[in-house]
Amino acid sequence: MDLKSMTMEELEACITGLGEKKFRAGQMYQWLHEKLVEDYDQMTNLSQTFREKLQDQYPLTKLKMLEMQESAIDGTRKYLFELSDGNVIESVWMKYHHGNSVCISSQVGCRMGCRFCASTLDGLERNLLPSEMLEQIYGIIRHTGERVSNVVVMGTGEPLDNYDNLLRFIQLLTAEKGQHISQRNITVSTCGLVEKMRQLAEEKLQITLALSLHAPTDEKRRELMPVANKYSLKELIPTCQYYFEQTGRRITFEYSLVAGVNDTEEEAEELIALIQHLNCHVNLIPVNPIKERNYRQSGRDNILRFKNKLEKNKINVTIRREMGRDIDGACGQLRRRYTLQRKGE
Ligand code: SAH
Repeated sequence: MDLKSMTMEELEACITGLGEKKFRAGQMYQWLHEKLVEDYDQMTNLSQTFREKLQDQYPLTKLKMLEMQESAIDGTRKYLFELSDGNVIESVWMKYHHGNSVCISSQVGCRMGCRFCASTLDGLERNLLPSEMLEQIYGIIRHTGERVSNVVVMGTGEPLDNYDNLLRFIQLLTAEKGQHISQRNITVSTCGLVEKMRQLAEEKLQITLALSLHAPTDEKRRELMPVANKYSLKELIPTCQYYFEQTGRRITFEYSLVAGVNDTEEEAEELIALIQHLNCHVNLIPVNPIKERNYRQSGRDNILRFKNKLEKNKINVTIRREMGRDIDGACGQLRRRYTLQRKGE
């Protein structure tokens, strides 16, 4: 395993195995996860020979920043990073009044196949390591010089399809000697892998789980999300209830509104009937059109009508503000443009 993906205990075991004193692990952990140094050479309280040994046996995970786009409208930034194997991933930095938020990718590509999503068009390449998820945040902190208070795992990939690495990532991100981000400030978004959602519930973390619902019936959902062929709403909704019972955390439902597809009053009513009994919050997202598909955003009036209907039935609902509309905004678009250009297509 790479050193930056190790917990403190694992780091201790690793370096005592290399003949070093156990307390050095604390120093190293702090260099890596709090001070965010990029090279062993910067770990000035370690001996030269030990640093060389580490460089030899445990080369550090690094991401190379290839591109940064900044929105002239709201200051949102999109970053494109290159991994050591040449793959590229994207991450987003958003400034809110309550602090800075980073949206990270959890996989290179995705195999879930949601129809409206650009990240899945070329399938899954590989899982990201915990260190590669962390480095997206660390790279952005180094670049902006600002703290990050919120992390959302809503970039490319299905986080619950990379479960073990995701959990390790959360453990490292929340560790006291690292960035020490509160679990409550972390959101993980899933397309709805039922077994993994149950498993996550049993970890009893205080993170927010967001479920990409996008339709109130199985039939409609299957049109948009192939994963709905595997798990029906009959299983999914009780799993959301279970998550709440186990963790005390209310579920967020994400619902991307697509004109003429899932935005009618009837669908709002079906949605109400489906989730009314749950302690939840609904996030309405005007779909972000991608050029490979002809999905269009619902009109402003439709979005408001949909929202009002939910509110009248006492469901918490917000319309997600669209950030960075002038940059390659939708999930996976920046990465896709870059890889296609590189391949000369
Ligand atoms: N795989 C996870 C997390 C990544 S996608 C999931 O499915 O939840 C993050 C969110 O963005 C999901 O709700 C996804 O459905 C939504 N999304 C993807 N492409 C979109 C687009 N073009 N417009 C609006 N929402 C989109």
